[in-house]
Amino acid sequence: MARKRRAPLHPPRHARPSSLVQPFIEAAEKTGLTYNPDFNGAEQEGVGAFQLTIKNGIRNSAARAFLKPAMKRKNLRVETHALASRILFEGTKAIGVEYIQNGETKRALAGREVIVAGGAVNSSQLLQLSGVGPKGLLKEFGIDVRVANPNVGAHLSDHQGINYTWRMNVPTMNDVLRPWWGKLKVGIQYLLTRGGPLSLSINHGGGFFRTDHSRTRPNMQLYMQAFSTLVPKPGERPLLSPDPFSGFSLGLSNCRPTSTGEIAIRSADPREKPRIVANAFSTRHDVEEMLLAVKYLRRIAAQEPLKSLMAEELRPGPRSKAMKNLSMTSAKEAARSITPAAPAGWEPMRPLPSSIRSFASMAFKACASAMPRSSPTSSPAISTHPR
Ligand SMILES: Cc1cc2nc3c(=O)[nH]c(=O)nc-3n(C[C@H](O)[C@H](O)[C@H](O)COP(=O)(O)OP(=O)(O)OC[C@H]3O[C@@H](n4cnc5c(N)ncnc54)[C@H](O)[C@@H]3O)c2cc1C
Repeated sequence: MARKRRAPLHPPRHARPSSLVQPFIEAAEKTGLTYNPDFNGAEQEGVGAFQLTIKNGIRNSAARAFLKPAMKRKNLRVETHALASRILFEGTKAIGVEYIQNGETKRALAGREVIVAGGAVNSSQLLQLSGVGPKGLLKEFGIDVRVANPNVGAHLSDHQGINYTWRMNVPTMNDVLRPWWGKLKVGIQYLLTRGGPLSLSINHGGGFFRTDHSRTRPNMQLYMQAFSTLVPKPGERPLLSPDPFSGFSLGLSNCRPTSTGEIAIRSADPREKPRIVANAFSTRHDVEEMLLAVKYLRRIAAQEPLKSLMAEELRPGPRSKAMKNLSMTSAKEAARSITPAAPAGWEPMRPLPSSIRSFASMAFKACASAMPRSSPTSSPAISTHPR
């Protein structure tokens, strides 16, 4: 699927905020990847600068691209600070939604249909709270079973990301973003020009590759960041502080993991967060694929002109220099959830129900709960928009 030229979600633009993007591209080309100027075009495979859905320095989200222009329509009303707490039914037909707003419970009734688009996690949670889900689970929390369906909350597919970090011989974004005066400088630059590092994504370069050539399409995504966040400042999450040295990161995430997890309510209270179990790397396929990918990542790092810019690998570091020492335990420790997707109510390997309506008059559109087997997930989720 390729995007249309004049789609409301602005054509992704390239940004090269760091002089390290070019050496990264050239090093990756030496491993056999070709330069790809448009991962959203006909070919996904290749390496290049990251494409960003950012317009005038501001994230061009689905809300900005689609909802904002539609706000002038007379037949549209947007309720904010509202938590959908339950789908209302007449028999097995969804007729509306109950929601909590400013402490008050309110109802909205549907003229034609109810669209569930609460994302991978909440779509399943909301269905379970509404009596659609695994019978045992619903009964455990005293929820009347309206439609028994073991697939609601099952088959969670969570793409896992792993980052490798190097200390560099040349300045990186860490040198710009760590000191207070650097923060002040980029802050002023952003306010005055809507430009500079704050107007961009954390990923500067990237790509897609296959871990073995018998595959017909890429199964790994590659990320390049001209900064690193290994050492947290006291009281801060590691991700928030650039390291006190010139750091550089290369990352990976699996496009189609076969490990599956689950989402299950822990209470009948919609404000209570559900239990999310990713079960990452629980299949041999996912482990072997990631080990091959990590090996490939190090091959890129070993190519010029990138190699001479690197001082030392910090994570995972010399301890796991040899392939045989790369254990999945260390990979699991380093891994983090990137893009969870969960099919809310059907088995993912089967075709989606026609028009993505799985229950009477209820549709899952523009939502990661309808697009469980892809990565990246954002555009595919948006493209499940009404048909
Ligand atoms: C850190 C991170 C990085 C990512 N990077 C990328 C990337 O580079 N490229 C990419 O393609 N994808 C990326 N993704 C994934 C991407 O964000 C998702 O695939 C996409 O947002 C899914 O869209 P969605 O509409 O299904 O869900 P969401 O975007 O999560 O939208 C669901 C909305 O429903 C609201 N909601 C949920 N429950 C309720 C409720 N009960 N009542 C009222 N409102 C509710 C939420 O507040 C939210 O606004 C990333 C995700 C994360 C977390």
